[in-house]
Amino acid sequence: MEKTPQGTTVGVDDPYEHAGVCDHLTDDGRCRFAFEHPEQDREFARERRADDFACPVVAVGTDSAGFADDADGDPEWADCPHFRSRNRDRECVRCGLAERRMAHSDERPLLEEHHLSYAGTGENLSHEITVYLCRWCHAKVHDSWARITDDAAPDPEAVAAAEQRRSREQDELGFESAADRYDP
Ligand SMILES: [Zn+2]
Ligand SMILES: [Zn+2]
Repeated sequence: MEKTPQGTTVGVDDPYEHAGVCDHLTDDGRCRFAFEHPEQDREFARERRADDFACPVVAVGTDSAGFADDADGDPEWADCPHFRSRNRDRECVRCGLAERRMAHSDERPLLEEHHLSYAGTGENLSHEITVYLCRWCHAKVHDSWARITDDAAPDPEAVAAAEQRRSREQDELGFESAADRYDP
């Protein structure tokens, strides 16, 4: 299993299998990194520019200069030096618990961002890949006995915490609409 730099497990064998599409990919298949941050990698930006900024991973199969496909034809994000995928779904990838954020509250979030892979430094090509895990699954994954692919139900404590927030949310909403109603 993959490990974090601190040596704890990340809960998967192949982070790329769980990565979404690249954060830099635009809806029309272009590389946003190359036109927004050309100064960070001039050679890469020049190559993309020559190819109308087509993403070198998803462009494979067209006549543009992309990276090679693997056998099953999936794009190989691992080949791109600037791939980054930070998950945006606000629910736990392991148990499905959804985030509940109270307005005007600085309570600790139910979900935490978990790194499957870290951005590489120097010679090592590696990428920042993150997913969301609830606090409970996150602890289990770092304790090394849970995997993010487990078919797990939310921890009873997690359900209780989410439920508590939900009812407080409703109290606040109820209070606000009651105040509206009786406002002269
Ligand atoms: Zn969870
Ligand atoms: Zn983590």
